[in-house]
Amino acid sequence: MDLKDHIRGIPDFPKPGIMFLDISTLLRHGAAWRSAMARLADIIRPYKPDMLAGIESRGFLVAAPLALELGLGFVMLRKPRKLPGLTIGLNYALEYGTDRIEMQADAVKKGDRVVVLDDLLATGGTLAAGISLLRQAGAEVPCAATLIELSFLNGRARLDVPFESLMTYD
Ligand code: IMP
Repeated sequence: MDLKDHIRGIPDFPKPGIMFLDISTLLRHGAAWRSAMARLADIIRPYKPDMLAGIESRGFLVAAPLALELGLGFVMLRKPRKLPGLTIGLNYALEYGTDRIEMQADAVKKGDRVVVLDDLLATGGTLAAGISLLRQAGAEVPCAATLIELSFLNGRARLDVPFESLMTYD
């Protein structure tokens, strides 16, 4: 099964000139989605994670089923002020402006191996922030992974951990 058959490009979203790769069509197709999760589980397993982390919000859609598949726990990296209790956070630069992600301060134990997931790697800024935040919490990050990599943006060069993806767009 070619997973790319289930990804569609939507022109001019969220702004003119951007071709948005939409995973909704993959999510809607039970067999293709199941296959994507099984393949990603096989790729992630050798990194021997103790836990998975997903970046809000489409990263949750990847990390939560994968955690079930691998029999692991799952940590949310969220937009600001969404999580209860003591949190830690990190500001990071976007093309225009800044953004921030947060996690619960007690979500990981020191030295836990946490693989961080999102739906798509573009410039790499989001995943790089996720990796830094997890390290701030005491985790080790053996790998980062997404469904889709926009390889022409070379976002993986911004990551100082091995990077894995199921689909590459040049
Ligand atoms: P980066 O920080 O530049 O790597 O951008 C990655 C983030 O932007 C991820 O959280 C993605 O969900 C989102 N993103 C950027 N482009 C797309 C796209 O074409 N489809 C879906 N999400 C995208």
